[in-house]
Amino acid sequence: MMDFTKLVREHKDLITKLRRDLHLIPEPAYTEKKTSAYVADYLGRQGLEVQTGIAQTGVVGLMKLAGPGKTLMIRSDMDALPVTEATGLPFASTHQGAMHACGHDGHMSMVLGAATILNKVKDKLNGNIKFLFQPAEEGPGGAKPMIEAGVMENPHVDFSVGCHVWPAIPEGSIGVKAGYLMAAMDRFDIKIIGKGGHGAMPHLCIDALEVGTQVVNALQRIASRQMNPLSPTVVTVGSFQAGSTFNVIPGEAEMCGTTRTFDREIWNSWPERIEKIVRGVCGSMGAEYELKYAQGYPPLLNDESTAEVVRRCAADVVGEERVIEPEQTMGGEDMAFYLEKSKGCFFFLGVGREGCAPLHNPKFDLNEDVLLTGVETYCRVALELLG
Ligand SMILES: [Zn+2]
Ligand SMILES: [Zn+2]
Repeated sequence: MMDFTKLVREHKDLITKLRRDLHLIPEPAYTEKKTSAYVADYLGRQGLEVQTGIAQTGVVGLMKLAGPGKTLMIRSDMDALPVTEATGLPFASTHQGAMHACGHDGHMSMVLGAATILNKVKDKLNGNIKFLFQPAEEGPGGAKPMIEAGVMENPHVDFSVGCHVWPAIPEGSIGVKAGYLMAAMDRFDIKIIGKGGHGAMPHLCIDALEVGTQVVNALQRIASRQMNPLSPTVVTVGSFQAGSTFNVIPGEAEMCGTTRTFDREIWNSWPERIEKIVRGVCGSMGAEYELKYAQGYPPLLNDESTAEVVRRCAADVVGEERVIEPEQTMGGEDMAFYLEKSKGCFFFLGVGREGCAPLHNPKFDLNEDVLLTGVETYCRVALELLG
């Protein structure tokens, strides 16, 4: 039996160094140049076959194991956020206005750590492991173009796993859930076109601001009145712009927002539902509109059998009592695209503790010991699926 616990502990300094090196050089979506070069160089030094420049900055390292068998993909995202870091850490961002505030530095260090350790025991495993690093998880999404570039084939990926550091569950715990874990996430942009004019003469105008507020209200009725309350949905208007001063009726209003659902049928129905409301409200008030609806990420579905493998392996790492079934989240993740193409499981690595900053916060940080539990879980999952 392989002692992964010991092996991972022996690599603690390395895993910490990888995380800190990457934390120093955060790069937002599709600008992950130094990051992908670092990752590709590291994988190359492990003797893996490395492919770079996939979907602009994506990297895949292929590890061929002892004999023929299935292929496991272990996925990390690489992108940072346009946030100015305020942690005061000695290894804080050296890139002005960019920060790994979503923990993707930790994700990369775990996948690189797993590659290092699995490389040492690869004669005990069959098949292949692909270590995948994608751009732009925070949007517009790197997974789809990575798949279009062929990462799920040659060799064909049978299983995909990945994780996200997760402050909503306690540090040292691991959250695993079969079924739908995260929601489908889309974006819409609406422009209302009325007729501007004098603030004292509404009868000569079509007030785009007023029509727009009715559209916002009517959109809220989708979730509250059209949907089965047992099937959670969200419609959020996150931005509304209209008007410039107190005595002018605005001729235009613009808004944008997002929809969320776990249900693929509802997911596909959003564009028509939203258009129907916008058309109805604008039509009744004599305004015109432009609507752009863009499907984002699908709902994220973990298959039962792989989730069970991850659950068992996580229990071997942190103990049965610290493997918990997390709440579903209406947040989206483009890991969902890989899970449409293969079996697999995306899980949460607990980093929550008293007073910790949330994801995307300029003070977000994590306890690096947690990264060891992530690496060990990946290694055990690989052994279980390919051993
Ligand atoms: Zn994020
Ligand atoms: Zn993230």
